[in-house]
Order: sequence, then structure tokens, then C-alpha cells
Amino acid sequence: CADIAMYKVKENGRNNFRFFTETMQQEVHYSLQLENRLRVALQLNQFLLYYQPKIDPYQQKVIGFEALLRWRVGSDEFISPSDFIPKAEEMGLIISIGRWVIEQSCRQFRAWLDAGIVDESMSMAINISIKQLQHQSLKSTIKECIETYQLPIGCLEIEVTESIMIDNVEHIIKLLAELQEMGIKISIDDFGTGYSSLNYLRRLPIDALKIDMSFVRALHEGEQSQAIVKAIVSLSEILGLTVIAEGVETEEQLEFLKGLECDFIQGYYYSKPLDETKAEAYLVDFKKQYSN
Ligand code: C2E
Ligand code: MG
Ligand code: MG
Ligand code: MG
Repeated sequence: CADIAMYKVKENGRNNFRFFTETMQQEVHYSLQLENRLRVALQLNQFLLYYQPKIDPYQQKVIGFEALLRWRVGSDEFISPSDFIPKAEEMGLIISIGRWVIEQSCRQFRAWLDAGIVDESMSMAINISIKQLQHQSLKSTIKECIETYQLPIGCLEIEVTESIMIDNVEHIIKLLAELQEMGIKISIDDFGTGYSSLNYLRRLPIDALKIDMSFVRALHEGEQSQAIVKAIVSLSEILGLTVIAEGVETEEQLEFLKGLECDFIQGYYYSKPLDETKAEAYLVDFKKQYSN
């Protein structure tokens, strides 16, 4: 414990010593533990991908999947990405972890194409953090994976958040345009929760907006939250973008979104993120269920 106390003192400067309470000590301890475990997680093969289907509710079709990272720390124990991704970003580890995610999801999509489980009209979406976008290796990593796994144009999608517009906007715009030219689709994730100006939105080379689930969850509260969702759907239409709602859990939410002609739906209503085997089974069942 002495080591940990020293660490904290060094980090915050001597003056903060008296604020170093037991709770904080526990937090530092947890944080250090997390760091150490995260550092070796890749070598220990502790990461895996889950896949959540995206649905066209009009054609009743699975249009693709979003790959969601899972960190398995025990036989049935997982640490949530919201808990370890910020830490991985801070440590710079997100680059190697992110590279693994890109490689693994491309490999999976190729395997599913070969097995006839998915077709070329479908896509695999990967979450990319701002740290990855700012790293010079991203484009070549994606390019190599597309070549290695011979992914057809349009099959790979990246999801980025509005936070990418915080600084170096010109560089980000250029990079996204280059990725788009390579045939990669670009979505803005959690749309509406950031503070991007509509002017940037017009200039950004993007294909889709994902309505953040907080708005979907608030739909039942009344006209105001409904108006926000309506506005995002109209905005997408005006800008010529695809719009997808995330976090759809209920029939009411689904019907409301269909009433607005929201293009695609993602959420527990259709399916939670699934492991490889369950995702395959989901596709087969889904086709059976809606084939007649
Ligand atoms: P996200 O990209 O916005 O993903 C949606 C999150 O909402 C996922 O949480 C998903 O499991 C959850 N979700 C989907 N449908 C529903 C629903 O109907 N109800 C509820 N309550 N939740 C739903 P998850 O998998 O824990 O991921 C959290 C976040 O971590 C992601 O948010 C994304 O920002 C980040 N993340 C996940 N995988 C990766 C990755 O491979 N790389 C990077 N950079 N970030 C990732
Ligand atoms: Mg996402
Ligand atoms: Mg999201
Ligand atoms: Mg998110």
C-alpha cells in the first residue's frame, strides 16, 4: 500500500497528500490493477468480439452487425468496454487493441461471407476511438485488413463519435474522406450527445447518423423528446444520410421510429450483442422467421 500512496503523491504533487483518503487509495489500487491487467490482456487472449445485429424493419432484414469488444477476465466474468476503453486510450494501448478489433472483425466477416451466412450487401461496423483516428497507422491497418480478407466495397463501416471534431478538424476530415474513398462507410455514433456544430456536420464526409439511445429511451416521456428524434431523422434526410436508432428496446419505440421512416434499428428489441455462434444462429432464425 505504501507504494500506491507514493504513486498518488507523485502524480498530484505534495500538496494533495492530505486529500489522499482511503477511498481514493482504493481507486488508485483498482486503477493500477486494471492497468497491469490490461497491459497483458491481448497476449493472454482475453479479448473477444460480440456482434449486435442492425435491422431494416421494413424489409425485415439483417443489414449487418456492429462488433463490440469484450474483455473476459474470468470464465464468466467480463469487464465492460465503458470501463476499460478510456483506460486503454489513456495508456495508448487502444492502438494495439483497436488493431486487433479491426483484424478480428474483418476475419469474421470474411468467414461468414465464405460460409454464405452473410452476403455482400451486409456490413460489419467497428467502433473507432479518437485516439485511433489520430494515430498515423489507422489507414494502413484498415487497408491491410481489407486486402488480406478481400472485403467487398461497402462491407466495412466505422463508427466514430462527435468528439472527433474537438481539434485538428481539417486533418480528421481529410482522413475520413480517404477512408470513404477506400469504400468504407462512416457513421457518427451517439449522435446528439456531443456538441458538433451543424456546419461541421455538413462538411464531414459521412454516411450515417446513429441516434443516441438516450433519446430513444426518453421517447415515452412526451413531445419534446419525440421532437428531438424527429429532428435528427429529418436532418439525416436533408443531408442525404442514412439514419439508425440505437438502444431500441420496446415495440412502442420501434413503431414510433418506423412512423418517422427511420432507416434502420438496433437494440435489445431485436437482439443483444451476441457471440460468434449465437450471431450465426440469429441470422438463420431471422431468415426463417421472415421468409414467408
Ligand atoms: P456504442 O458503440 O454506442 O455501443 C452501444 C452500446 O449499447 C453497447 O454497449 C451495446 O451493448 C449497448 N446496447 C445496444 N443495444 C442496447 C439496448 O437496447 N439497450 C441497452 N441498455 N444497451 C444497448 P457496450 O458493448 O458495453 O459498449 C459500450 C461502448 O464501448 C460502445 O458504445 C463503444 O463506444 C465502446 N466500444 C465497444 N467496443 C469497442 C471497440 O472495439 N473499440 C472502441 N474504440 N470502442 C468500443
Ligand atoms: Mg457504436
Ligand atoms: Mg452508440
Ligand atoms: Mg457510446
